[in-house]
Amino acid sequence: MGVKKHILVIPGDGIGAEVTTWGKAVLEQIASEFGHEFTFDEALMGHVAIEATGSPLPDETLDKAKASDAILFGAVGHAKYDNDPSAKVRPEQGLLKIRKELGLYANLRPILLFDELLDASSLKPEILRGTDILFFRELTGDVYFGEKKRNEDRTWASDLMNYHRYEVERIARKAYEAARVRNKKVCSVDKANVLETSRLWREVVQEIAAEYPDVETEHMFIDNAAMQLVKNPRKFDVVLTANLFGDILTDEASQIAGSMGMLASASVGDGTGFFEPIHGSAHDIAGQNKANPLASILSAALMLEIGFGLKEEAKRVTDAVDHVLKQGFRTGDIANASTPADKVLGSDAMGQKVLHFLRSK
Ligand code: NAD
Repeated sequence: MGVKKHILVIPGDGIGAEVTTWGKAVLEQIASEFGHEFTFDEALMGHVAIEATGSPLPDETLDKAKASDAILFGAVGHAKYDNDPSAKVRPEQGLLKIRKELGLYANLRPILLFDELLDASSLKPEILRGTDILFFRELTGDVYFGEKKRNEDRTWASDLMNYHRYEVERIARKAYEAARVRNKKVCSVDKANVLETSRLWREVVQEIAAEYPDVETEHMFIDNAAMQLVKNPRKFDVVLTANLFGDILTDEASQIAGSMGMLASASVGDGTGFFEPIHGSAHDIAGQNKANPLASILSAALMLEIGFGLKEEAKRVTDAVDHVLKQGFRTGDIANASTPADKVLGSDAMGQKVLHFLRSK
């Protein structure tokens, strides 16, 4: 029996539109193949929304987001704001606000390693082979949302780091549930030797861990985790961490997969889920048909699996990506000196290859 889902596409800025085109095309193809009915709408966020309406997250976008079953997002950001830290209205405010408004408190980031890309990573293949990590990064608390202050002569600044018990509890439960159907290991990362928020984090995680005796728990300080991740990434299964530590650690982990252009993430809470590549708007390559669309395509796969519970459909998409990589096709970011020139593709040709494989089955 097919399912009916309404999906909001928010392309955003820079390469956002170039890559979400392909995430959406893959969802349309999967719907037609498996007999689902996916309807789509589109909305503005980020710099394009500021230009059109003055706001990085117009009310219309938020209303459409709340009315949808899932959101496929591209990226926000523009060079103009990167070089002007004092700008009051900024593209990323749209992203922070929508996460808060939709209650997206858990960011899931799978570090999926395709064997064909082992040599695209800056780490040695023998260290990487077999790595399979699922990060749970808390997304709506921590120093990002705490009170921000500057004194009058602007010589002092403060960002308040804080967490409530319930914020730790709800993401910890999601991480333990996920570990149960994976390799049954959770590594909780904090800085409990120094930070009071981390001591609360560790206390709560210990309590939740007691409810899951079948899952092994390890607590690790962030500095050690940053080191272990590149020394022996295979030791990790589910990694659970706070917003700031997770932000840094997941970007570090992206190098395990070879490129930002290969990694997808899901932000979920108790309502509509948000599915996006981990990369930004990449002004340096925007509009040049160079962006790797595979992270957006893999975001669509995450939407199918985590958002809609359609595991077989999600696997069709990851298998299609795997197949295209096995045929030797690469976008510039994952190509290397030994990639034949005729196998190096632009965004559109890479998207077409994945679609072609899906259609040929
Ligand atoms: P970025 O992720 O946009 O780019 C980093 C590097 O990776 C660049 O060299 C870029 O060309 C490359 N890259 C990224 N995605 C790629 C893809 N799909 N294919 C091929 N190469 C790819 O990060 P940045 O340069 O630090 O930031 C650029 C802008 O994006 C900034 O304005 C920043 O604020 C914004 N940003 C937005 C998000 C988001 O919307 N979720 C996340 C990070 C950064």
